Amino acid sequence: MNSGFQSWLGQQLDQLKTDNLYKIPKILESPAGGRVKMNGKEVINLASNNYLGLANHPKVKQAALDAIEKWGVGAGAVRWIGGTMSVHQELEERLAAFKHTEAVLVFTGGFTANSGCIPAVLTNQDVVISDELNHASIIDGVRLSPAAYKKSEGWVYAHKDMNQLEECLKKANEKGFAKKLIITDGVFSMDGDIAPLPDIVQLAEQYDAIVMVDDAHASGVLGKNGAGSTSHFDLYGRVDIQLGTLSKALGVMGGYIAGSANLKDWLVNRGRPYLFSTGHPPMVAAALIAALDIMENDPEPMQRLWANTKWWKDALAAEGFDTMGSETPITPVYVGDEGDAQRMERMLWDEGVYALSILYPTVARGKARIRTMPSAAHSQADLEEALEAFKRVRAKL
Ligand SMILES: *Cc1c(COP(=O)(O)O)cnc(C)c1O
Repeated sequence: MNSGFQSWLGQQLDQLKTDNLYKIPKILESPAGGRVKMNGKEVINLASNNYLGLANHPKVKQAALDAIEKWGVGAGAVRWIGGTMSVHQELEERLAAFKHTEAVLVFTGGFTANSGCIPAVLTNQDVVISDELNHASIIDGVRLSPAAYKKSEGWVYAHKDMNQLEECLKKANEKGFAKKLIITDGVFSMDGDIAPLPDIVQLAEQYDAIVMVDDAHASGVLGKNGAGSTSHFDLYGRVDIQLGTLSKALGVMGGYIAGSANLKDWLVNRGRPYLFSTGHPPMVAAALIAALDIMENDPEPMQRLWANTKWWKDALAAEGFDTMGSETPITPVYVGDEGDAQRMERMLWDEGVYALSILYPTVARGKARIRTMPSAAHSQADLEEALEAFKRVRAKL
Protein backbone atom coordinates (compact mmCIF):
# COMPACT_ATOMS: atom_id res chain seq x y z
CA MET A 1 0.00 0.00 0.00
CA ASN A 2 1.11 3.52 -0.75
CA SER A 3 1.82 5.27 2.55
CA GLY A 4 1.52 8.78 1.12
CA PHE A 5 -1.94 7.94 -0.19
CA GLN A 6 -3.02 6.41 3.13
CA SER A 7 -1.92 9.48 5.07
CA TRP A 8 -3.69 11.73 2.53
CA LEU A 9 -6.92 9.80 3.19
CA GLY A 10 -6.44 10.20 6.94
CA GLN A 11 -5.91 13.95 6.60
CA GLN A 12 -8.99 14.37 4.39
CA LEU A 13 -11.15 12.48 6.90
CA ASP A 14 -9.77 14.54 9.81
CA GLN A 15 -10.65 17.70 7.91
CA LEU A 16 -14.25 16.49 7.41
CA LYS A 17 -14.48 15.81 11.15
CA THR A 18 -13.11 19.27 11.96
CA ASP A 19 -15.68 20.82 9.61
CA ASN A 20 -18.55 18.78 11.11
CA LEU A 21 -19.19 17.21 7.71
CA TYR A 22 -18.17 13.65 8.59
CA LYS A 23 -20.97 11.08 8.33
CA ILE A 24 -21.51 7.57 9.67
CA PRO A 25 -24.79 5.97 8.59
CA LYS A 26 -27.02 4.58 11.29
CA ILE A 27 -27.84 0.89 10.87
CA LEU A 28 -31.43 -0.03 10.10
CA GLU A 29 -32.31 -3.36 11.70
CA SER A 30 -35.89 -3.60 10.44
CA PRO A 31 -37.67 -2.92 7.13
CA ALA A 32 -37.91 0.72 6.05
CA GLY A 33 -41.13 1.98 7.61
CA GLY A 34 -42.69 4.64 9.79
CA ARG A 35 -41.35 3.10 12.97
CA VAL A 36 -38.05 1.27 12.72
CA LYS A 37 -35.32 -0.37 14.76
CA MET A 38 -32.09 1.48 14.22
CA ASN A 39 -28.77 1.16 16.06
CA GLY A 40 -30.60 -1.08 18.55
CA LYS A 41 -33.27 1.50 19.31
CA GLU A 42 -36.91 1.83 18.27
CA VAL A 43 -37.50 5.21 16.62
CA ILE A 44 -40.04 7.05 14.48
CA ASN A 45 -38.43 7.31 11.06
CA LEU A 46 -38.80 10.73 9.45
CA ALA A 47 -35.90 10.30 7.04
CA SER A 48 -37.12 7.78 4.48
CA ASN A 49 -38.20 8.34 0.87
CA ASN A 50 -40.51 5.33 1.12
CA TYR A 51 -43.43 7.73 0.54
CA LEU A 52 -46.15 5.17 -0.09
CA GLY A 53 -44.95 2.44 2.25
CA LEU A 54 -44.30 0.15 -0.74
CA ALA A 55 -40.76 -0.90 0.25
CA ASN A 56 -42.18 -3.53 2.60
CA HIS A 57 -45.62 -4.10 1.03
CA PRO A 58 -46.72 -7.78 1.10
CA LYS A 59 -47.75 -7.80 -2.59
CA VAL A 60 -44.48 -6.23 -3.69
CA LYS A 61 -42.46 -8.70 -1.60
CA GLN A 62 -44.46 -11.64 -2.98
CA ALA A 63 -43.84 -10.47 -6.57
CA ALA A 64 -40.10 -10.38 -5.84
CA LEU A 65 -40.17 -13.87 -4.32
CA ASP A 66 -42.14 -15.27 -7.28
CA ALA A 67 -39.67 -13.68 -9.67
CA ILE A 68 -36.75 -15.29 -7.88
CA GLU A 69 -38.43 -18.69 -8.33
CA LYS A 70 -39.07 -18.01 -11.98
CA TRP A 71 -35.94 -16.16 -13.07
CA GLY A 72 -33.22 -16.63 -10.47
CA VAL A 73 -31.50 -13.67 -8.90
CA GLY A 74 -29.42 -11.97 -11.58
CA ALA A 75 -29.82 -10.67 -15.14
CA GLY A 76 -26.49 -12.25 -16.07
CA ALA A 77 -25.24 -9.53 -18.39
CA VAL A 78 -25.44 -5.95 -19.50
CA ARG A 79 -28.90 -5.54 -20.98
CA TRP A 80 -27.96 -5.27 -24.67
CA ILE A 81 -25.59 -8.23 -24.46
CA GLY A 82 -28.14 -10.68 -23.11
CA GLY A 83 -29.47 -9.26 -19.90
CA THR A 84 -32.84 -7.87 -21.03
CA MET A 85 -35.48 -10.25 -19.75
CA SER A 86 -39.14 -10.04 -20.71
CA VAL A 87 -39.84 -8.78 -17.19
CA HIS A 88 -37.55 -5.77 -17.84
CA GLN A 89 -39.39 -5.11 -21.07
CA GLU A 90 -42.80 -5.42 -19.39
CA LEU A 91 -41.79 -2.89 -16.72
CA GLU A 92 -40.77 -0.35 -19.38
CA GLU A 93 -44.02 -0.80 -21.30
CA ARG A 94 -46.02 -0.37 -18.11
CA LEU A 95 -44.08 2.77 -17.16
CA ALA A 96 -44.51 4.31 -20.63
CA ALA A 97 -48.29 3.81 -20.40
CA PHE A 98 -48.28 5.23 -16.87
CA LYS A 99 -46.34 8.31 -17.99
CA HIS A 100 -48.29 8.80 -21.26
CA THR A 101 -45.04 8.82 -23.23
CA GLU A 102 -44.03 6.79 -26.27
CA ALA A 103 -41.27 4.98 -24.45
CA VAL A 104 -39.34 4.48 -21.22
CA LEU A 105 -35.80 3.25 -20.61
CA VAL A 106 -34.99 1.97 -17.11
CA PHE A 107 -31.57 2.48 -15.55
CA THR A 108 -30.41 0.83 -12.32
CA GLY A 109 -30.78 4.09 -10.37
CA GLY A 110 -32.00 7.65 -10.69
CA PHE A 111 -28.39 8.76 -10.40
CA THR A 112 -27.33 6.61 -13.35
CA ALA A 113 -30.37 7.72 -15.36
CA ASN A 114 -29.15 11.32 -15.02
CA SER A 115 -25.51 10.52 -15.64
CA GLY A 116 -26.48 8.31 -18.59
CA CYS A 117 -29.04 10.50 -20.28
CA ILE A 118 -27.69 14.04 -19.96
CA PRO A 119 -24.26 13.60 -21.60
CA ALA A 120 -25.77 11.35 -24.29
CA VAL A 121 -28.03 14.08 -25.64
CA LEU A 122 -25.49 16.93 -25.67
CA THR A 123 -22.55 18.00 -27.84
CA ASN A 124 -19.98 20.77 -27.52
CA GLN A 125 -22.31 23.00 -29.57
CA ASP A 126 -24.93 22.95 -26.82
CA VAL A 127 -25.70 24.67 -23.52
CA VAL A 128 -27.38 23.45 -20.32
CA ILE A 129 -29.37 25.93 -18.23
CA SER A 130 -29.95 24.76 -14.64
CA ASP A 131 -31.77 25.77 -11.46
CA GLU A 132 -29.20 26.43 -8.71
CA LEU A 133 -30.82 23.87 -6.40
CA ASN A 134 -30.75 20.95 -8.82
CA HIS A 135 -29.78 17.53 -7.44
CA ALA A 136 -26.16 16.34 -7.37
CA SER A 137 -26.86 13.62 -9.95
CA ILE A 138 -28.04 16.25 -12.44
CA ILE A 139 -24.89 18.26 -11.78
CA ASP A 140 -22.68 15.22 -12.30
CA GLY A 141 -24.56 14.26 -15.46
CA VAL A 142 -24.07 17.76 -16.82
CA ARG A 143 -20.36 17.72 -15.92
CA LEU A 144 -19.93 14.54 -17.98
CA SER A 145 -21.20 16.37 -21.06
CA PRO A 146 -19.15 18.52 -23.44
CA ALA A 147 -21.78 21.29 -23.38
CA ALA A 148 -21.45 24.74 -21.78
CA TYR A 149 -23.06 24.67 -18.31
CA LYS A 150 -20.96 26.61 -15.79
CA LYS A 151 -22.39 28.88 -13.15
CA SER A 152 -19.38 31.18 -13.62
CA GLU A 153 -20.41 31.57 -17.28
CA GLY A 154 -23.96 32.47 -16.27
CA TRP A 155 -25.80 29.23 -17.10
CA VAL A 156 -27.23 28.60 -13.62
CA TYR A 157 -30.32 30.60 -12.63
CA ALA A 158 -31.36 31.53 -9.09
CA HIS A 159 -33.83 29.07 -7.62
CA LYS A 160 -37.10 29.15 -9.62
CA ASP A 161 -36.23 32.65 -10.95
CA MET A 162 -38.01 32.79 -14.32
CA ASN A 163 -36.61 36.22 -15.20
CA GLN A 164 -33.09 34.87 -14.89
CA LEU A 165 -34.04 31.78 -16.87
CA GLU A 166 -35.31 34.02 -19.66
CA GLU A 167 -32.06 36.05 -19.57
CA CYS A 168 -30.10 32.80 -19.92
CA LEU A 169 -32.22 31.76 -22.90
CA LYS A 170 -31.77 35.13 -24.61
CA LYS A 171 -28.01 35.00 -24.08
CA ALA A 172 -27.90 31.42 -25.37
CA ASN A 173 -29.71 32.46 -28.55
CA GLU A 174 -27.30 35.38 -29.06
CA LYS A 175 -24.37 33.02 -28.74
CA GLY A 176 -25.93 30.67 -31.29
CA PHE A 177 -25.85 27.37 -29.41
CA ALA A 178 -27.24 24.44 -31.40
CA LYS A 179 -29.34 23.01 -28.56
CA LYS A 180 -30.45 24.57 -25.27
CA LEU A 181 -31.41 22.14 -22.50
CA ILE A 182 -33.23 23.48 -19.44
CA ILE A 183 -32.98 21.08 -16.48
CA THR A 184 -34.89 21.29 -13.22
CA ASP A 185 -35.89 19.11 -10.32
CA GLY A 186 -39.69 18.64 -10.37
CA VAL A 187 -39.81 18.69 -6.56
CA PHE A 188 -36.68 20.11 -4.93
CA SER A 189 -35.16 17.48 -2.69
CA MET A 190 -34.02 19.65 0.23
CA ASP A 191 -36.74 22.33 0.23
CA GLY A 192 -39.80 20.35 -0.86
CA ASP A 193 -41.07 23.08 -3.17
CA ILE A 194 -42.36 22.48 -6.71
CA ALA A 195 -40.68 23.80 -9.88
CA PRO A 196 -42.79 26.26 -11.91
CA LEU A 197 -42.91 23.80 -14.79
CA PRO A 198 -45.69 25.54 -16.78
CA ASP A 199 -43.58 28.73 -16.91
CA ILE A 200 -40.44 26.78 -17.77
CA VAL A 201 -42.22 24.95 -20.59
CA GLN A 202 -43.66 28.18 -21.92
CA LEU A 203 -40.24 29.86 -21.97
CA ALA A 204 -38.74 26.77 -23.59
CA GLU A 205 -41.35 26.90 -26.35
CA GLN A 206 -40.79 30.62 -26.83
CA TYR A 207 -36.99 30.29 -27.05
CA ASP A 208 -36.85 26.91 -28.77
CA ALA A 209 -35.28 25.03 -25.87
CA ILE A 210 -35.54 21.44 -24.61
CA VAL A 211 -37.00 20.70 -21.14
CA MET A 212 -35.81 17.96 -18.81
CA VAL A 213 -37.50 17.46 -15.43
CA ASP A 214 -36.09 15.21 -12.69
CA ASP A 215 -39.16 13.84 -10.93
CA ALA A 216 -37.33 11.72 -8.35
CA HIS A 217 -39.40 13.23 -5.52
CA ALA A 218 -42.51 13.83 -7.63
CA SER A 219 -42.86 10.17 -8.70
CA GLY A 220 -45.63 8.61 -6.62
CA VAL A 221 -46.28 11.97 -4.97
CA LEU A 222 -47.61 14.43 -7.59
CA GLY A 223 -50.03 13.98 -10.49
CA LYS A 224 -52.60 11.34 -11.34
CA ASN A 225 -51.78 8.17 -9.35
CA GLY A 226 -48.35 9.73 -8.73
CA ALA A 227 -47.42 10.07 -12.42
CA GLY A 228 -45.29 13.16 -11.66
CA SER A 229 -45.12 16.87 -12.38
CA THR A 230 -46.03 16.67 -16.07
CA SER A 231 -49.31 15.07 -15.02
CA HIS A 232 -49.72 17.44 -12.05
CA PHE A 233 -49.53 20.46 -14.36
CA ASP A 234 -51.25 18.78 -17.33
CA LEU A 235 -48.22 19.29 -19.58
CA TYR A 236 -48.52 16.00 -21.44
CA GLY A 237 -46.50 16.03 -24.65
CA ARG A 238 -44.67 19.27 -23.82
CA VAL A 239 -41.73 17.99 -21.73
CA ASP A 240 -39.01 16.30 -23.79
CA ILE A 241 -37.23 14.33 -21.07
CA GLN A 242 -38.77 13.13 -17.81
CA LEU A 243 -36.71 11.32 -15.22
CA GLY A 244 -38.45 9.23 -12.58
CA THR A 245 -37.10 7.14 -9.75
CA LEU A 246 -38.14 3.66 -8.78
CA SER A 247 -36.13 3.87 -5.54
CA LYS A 248 -38.26 6.34 -3.62
CA ALA A 249 -42.07 6.14 -3.72
CA LEU A 250 -41.99 2.93 -5.75
CA GLY A 251 -40.04 1.41 -2.92
CA VAL A 252 -37.50 -0.69 -4.78
CA MET A 253 -34.59 0.62 -6.87
CA GLY A 254 -33.98 2.25 -10.22
CA GLY A 255 -34.51 5.29 -12.38
CA TYR A 256 -36.02 5.79 -15.79
CA ILE A 257 -36.15 8.22 -18.67
CA ALA A 258 -39.58 8.73 -20.23
CA GLY A 259 -39.94 10.45 -23.59
CA SER A 260 -40.15 9.78 -27.31
CA ALA A 261 -39.35 6.45 -28.93
CA ASN A 262 -36.35 8.11 -30.58
CA LEU A 263 -35.04 9.31 -27.22
CA LYS A 264 -35.20 5.78 -25.87
CA ASP A 265 -33.58 4.37 -29.02
CA TRP A 266 -30.76 6.88 -28.74
CA LEU A 267 -30.12 6.07 -25.06
CA VAL A 268 -30.17 2.32 -25.80
CA ASN A 269 -27.31 3.08 -28.19
CA ARG A 270 -25.51 5.88 -26.35
CA GLY A 271 -26.46 5.80 -22.65
CA ARG A 272 -23.25 4.60 -21.07
CA PRO A 273 -24.57 3.18 -17.74
CA TYR A 274 -27.11 1.21 -19.80
CA LEU A 275 -24.42 0.01 -22.19
CA PHE A 276 -21.73 -0.87 -19.68
CA SER A 277 -23.45 -1.90 -16.44
CA THR A 278 -25.59 -4.97 -15.73
CA GLY A 279 -29.36 -4.56 -15.63
CA HIS A 280 -31.57 -4.96 -12.58
CA PRO A 281 -32.06 -8.36 -11.02
CA PRO A 282 -35.38 -9.66 -12.44
CA MET A 283 -36.96 -9.58 -8.97
CA VAL A 284 -36.44 -5.81 -8.94
CA ALA A 285 -38.38 -5.40 -12.19
CA ALA A 286 -41.12 -7.77 -10.97
CA ALA A 287 -41.43 -5.98 -7.62
CA LEU A 288 -41.67 -2.66 -9.47
CA ILE A 289 -44.51 -3.96 -11.66
CA ALA A 290 -46.36 -4.97 -8.48
CA ALA A 291 -45.68 -1.54 -6.95
CA LEU A 292 -47.00 0.13 -10.11
CA ASP A 293 -50.13 -2.06 -9.95
CA ILE A 294 -50.79 -0.71 -6.47
CA MET A 295 -50.18 2.89 -7.48
CA GLU A 296 -52.50 2.61 -10.47
CA ASN A 297 -55.33 0.77 -8.73
CA ASP A 298 -55.29 1.67 -5.06
CA PRO A 299 -55.56 5.40 -4.28
CA GLU A 300 -55.33 4.80 -0.54
CA PRO A 301 -51.52 5.01 0.00
CA MET A 302 -51.28 8.32 -1.87
CA GLN A 303 -54.31 9.72 -0.01
CA ARG A 304 -52.73 8.73 3.30
CA LEU A 305 -49.39 10.26 2.24
CA TRP A 306 -51.08 13.61 1.56
CA ALA A 307 -53.35 13.48 4.63
CA ASN A 308 -50.28 12.82 6.80
CA THR A 309 -48.34 15.53 4.98
CA LYS A 310 -51.08 18.10 5.56
CA TRP A 311 -51.48 17.15 9.21
CA TRP A 312 -47.73 17.30 9.82
CA LYS A 313 -47.20 20.67 8.11
CA ASP A 314 -50.25 22.24 9.79
CA ALA A 315 -49.24 20.92 13.20
CA LEU A 316 -45.67 22.21 12.84
CA ALA A 317 -46.91 25.62 11.65
CA ALA A 318 -49.42 25.83 14.51
CA GLU A 319 -46.51 25.31 16.91
CA GLY A 320 -44.55 28.09 15.24
CA PHE A 321 -42.01 25.96 13.36
CA ASP A 322 -40.90 27.35 9.97
CA THR A 323 -41.31 24.78 7.17
CA MET A 324 -39.70 27.06 4.58
CA GLY A 325 -42.50 27.18 2.01
CA SER A 326 -42.42 23.45 1.36
CA GLU A 327 -45.39 22.20 -0.69
CA THR A 328 -44.81 18.44 -0.68
CA PRO A 329 -44.13 15.69 1.89
CA ILE A 330 -40.49 16.85 2.08
CA THR A 331 -40.83 19.16 5.10
CA PRO A 332 -37.75 21.08 6.22
CA VAL A 333 -37.89 22.53 9.73
CA TYR A 334 -35.77 25.67 9.63
CA VAL A 335 -33.02 25.98 12.23
CA GLY A 336 -30.41 28.29 10.66
CA ASP A 337 -27.21 27.65 12.61
CA GLU A 338 -25.36 24.44 11.67
CA GLY A 339 -24.38 23.60 15.23
CA ASP A 340 -27.96 24.04 16.48
CA ALA A 341 -29.26 21.78 13.70
CA GLN A 342 -26.79 19.05 14.63
CA ARG A 343 -27.67 19.37 18.32
CA MET A 344 -31.35 19.20 17.43
CA GLU A 345 -30.82 16.01 15.40
CA ARG A 346 -29.06 14.37 18.38
CA MET A 347 -31.72 15.49 20.86
CA LEU A 348 -34.53 14.25 18.60
CA TRP A 349 -32.77 10.91 18.40
CA ASP A 350 -32.64 10.77 22.20
CA GLU A 351 -36.40 11.45 22.16
CA GLY A 352 -36.97 8.54 19.77
CA VAL A 353 -37.23 10.45 16.47
CA TYR A 354 -34.88 9.88 13.55
CA ALA A 355 -34.66 12.96 11.30
CA LEU A 356 -31.53 14.33 9.66
CA SER A 357 -29.97 17.74 9.89
CA ILE A 358 -29.17 19.12 6.44
CA LEU A 359 -26.16 21.41 6.43
CA TYR A 360 -23.84 23.32 4.16
CA PRO A 361 -22.73 22.34 1.47
CA THR A 362 -25.98 20.48 0.76
CA VAL A 363 -27.80 23.76 1.48
CA ALA A 364 -26.51 27.33 1.82
CA ARG A 365 -24.47 28.34 4.90
CA GLY A 366 -26.69 29.55 7.77
CA LYS A 367 -29.74 27.79 6.31
CA ALA A 368 -29.39 24.53 8.23
CA ARG A 369 -32.58 22.59 8.81
CA ILE A 370 -34.00 19.32 10.02
CA ARG A 371 -35.52 17.51 7.04
CA THR A 372 -38.65 15.53 7.86
CA MET A 373 -40.51 13.16 5.56
CA PRO A 374 -44.02 12.13 6.60
CA SER A 375 -45.26 9.14 4.59
CA ALA A 376 -48.14 6.72 4.13
CA ALA A 377 -46.23 4.37 6.44
CA HIS A 378 -46.83 6.65 9.45
CA SER A 379 -49.82 6.39 11.74
CA GLN A 380 -51.42 9.45 13.28
CA ALA A 381 -49.90 8.37 16.60
CA ASP A 382 -46.39 8.30 15.08
CA LEU A 383 -46.72 11.89 13.88
CA GLU A 384 -48.28 13.12 17.14
CA GLU A 385 -45.43 11.56 19.09
CA ALA A 386 -42.87 13.09 16.72
CA LEU A 387 -44.45 16.53 17.13
CA GLU A 388 -44.23 16.28 20.93
CA ALA A 389 -40.54 15.39 20.57
CA PHE A 390 -39.94 18.46 18.40
CA LYS A 391 -41.62 20.65 21.00
CA ARG A 392 -39.61 19.18 23.89
CA VAL A 393 -36.34 19.54 21.99
CA ARG A 394 -37.05 23.16 21.08
CA ALA A 395 -37.81 23.95 24.71
CA LYS A 396 -34.43 22.48 25.72
CA LEU A 397 -32.49 24.27 22.97
C1 LIG B 1 -32.74 10.67 -5.11
C2 LIG B 1 -32.60 11.49 -6.33
C3 LIG B 1 -31.98 10.97 -7.47
C4 LIG B 1 -31.29 9.63 -7.46
O1 LIG B 1 -32.20 8.56 -7.47
P1 LIG B 1 -31.70 7.11 -7.05
O2 LIG B 1 -32.71 6.21 -7.66
O3 LIG B 1 -31.68 7.07 -5.56
O4 LIG B 1 -30.34 6.92 -7.64
C5 LIG B 1 -31.95 11.74 -8.61
N1 LIG B 1 -32.50 12.97 -8.63
C6 LIG B 1 -33.10 13.52 -7.55
C7 LIG B 1 -33.70 14.88 -7.63
C8 LIG B 1 -33.16 12.79 -6.36
O5 LIG B 1 -33.74 13.33 -5.28
